[in-house]
Amino acid sequence: MKNISILGSTGSIGVSTLEIVAAHPDRFRIAAMTAGKNLELFVRQIKQFAPRIAAVADLEDVPRLKDLCSGLDVTLLGGVEGLIAAATADEAEMVVAAIVGAAGLIPAAAAIRAGKDIALANKETLVTAGHLFMELVAEFGVKLFPVDSEHSAIFQSIEGHRNEDIAKIILTASGGPFLNTPTADLPKVTVRDALNHPNWNMGKKISIDSATMMNKGLEVIEARWLFDTPVDKIGVNIHPQSIIHSMVEYVDGCVIAQLGTPDMKAPIAYALAYPERIATGVKKLDLTTLSGLTFFNPDREKFPCLELAYRAMTMGESMPAVMNAANEIAVAHFLEGRIGFTQIAETIERTMNAHSAHNLRSIEEVLKADLWGRESAREICREMVH
Ligand code: NAD
Ligand code: MG
Repeated sequence: MKNISILGSTGSIGVSTLEIVAAHPDRFRIAAMTAGKNLELFVRQIKQFAPRIAAVADLEDVPRLKDLCSGLDVTLLGGVEGLIAAATADEAEMVVAAIVGAAGLIPAAAAIRAGKDIALANKETLVTAGHLFMELVAEFGVKLFPVDSEHSAIFQSIEGHRNEDIAKIILTASGGPFLNTPTADLPKVTVRDALNHPNWNMGKKISIDSATMMNKGLEVIEARWLFDTPVDKIGVNIHPQSIIHSMVEYVDGCVIAQLGTPDMKAPIAYALAYPERIATGVKKLDLTTLSGLTFFNPDREKFPCLELAYRAMTMGESMPAVMNAANEIAVAHFLEGRIGFTQIAETIERTMNAHSAHNLRSIEEVLKADLWGRESAREICREMVH
């Protein structure tokens, strides 16, 4: 029996993780879970999975949570301390990091320090603090399993191979909802258009990231740290069918890829049960029913966020953290209808231009850079508000 803590249980990844857990009661037990604002769903999950600890992000929500859970045998907590308590619960062997954004950094780092293996969905932790995070993983001897589908594909394609034999890591990208939208129409697209992802049903923030292609930029940085590979060896192919989830090219010209129906339950289950493969209910892939698999290079002018991420990686360690913070603020403003779609990239670029990059020696310094990025981006958005 593997005891698991889920950080962000009410999100898209959290819910899919609980589906896998519910399908394998003989293998997995929930030790602790955390949520943001969706208390109704959280309480249903607490009743179904009976964790020992349940924590909400906001301390103010604890009294309501206590009301809703009266009579249940569960320790209810809140705030950063509550998230940390859930991330470090004694009986948990593995922590699923599925909070969205840099908010997941502190609890994920606490989990590593408590010796927990990590199933990592929260890519922003590696974007903002990759070098420190990987140092912690090594120092505390924990295992880090990717949940992001591309990185799970690379992880599956890389096993048994030597790092020095890798010629290139190729991340695939669906291209998002605006793949075929003319560039001139992008300033006018709506929030609804942008949330309408062709192949994946995800949380709002990552859906917008997919539409701007910042998601792929974040994933390039995530891959750089997870697989200890320089960014110039990480490429991106647009592959609109999302069947090949990513691939690794070796020095001998061989390419190893991982294929499957797009469904996050597959990479989640692999991270939870590694090295075993377990039933997921994911629809079987029948290549004979597909009309074709296509691949082409991304349009870096139409989607400047991808370029910005590559650029951030060549600068000091604080630049990716600042870029990520500016993106979180810009996406939130776009979702609230306060700035236009193309102003997301503009906000990020202007924030990055205003920042002098420096190295980051601690998580506290990362949080400082993150805060600076947020405040600067907020200011830039304020000027733009239409
Ligand atoms: P989501 O918005 O659906 O869920 C986020 C979860 O985090 C929720 O439980 C929410 O309550 C919680 N949360 C939000 N803000 C918080 C805060 N400030 N403090 C504490 N908890 C907070 O997001 P998601 O789509 O499940 O994505 C989660 C992470 O996984 C992201 O980093 C995303 O990039 C990554 N990811 C998601 C997918 C996907 O298919 N959804 C795929 C790959 C990677
Ligand atoms: Mg992905």
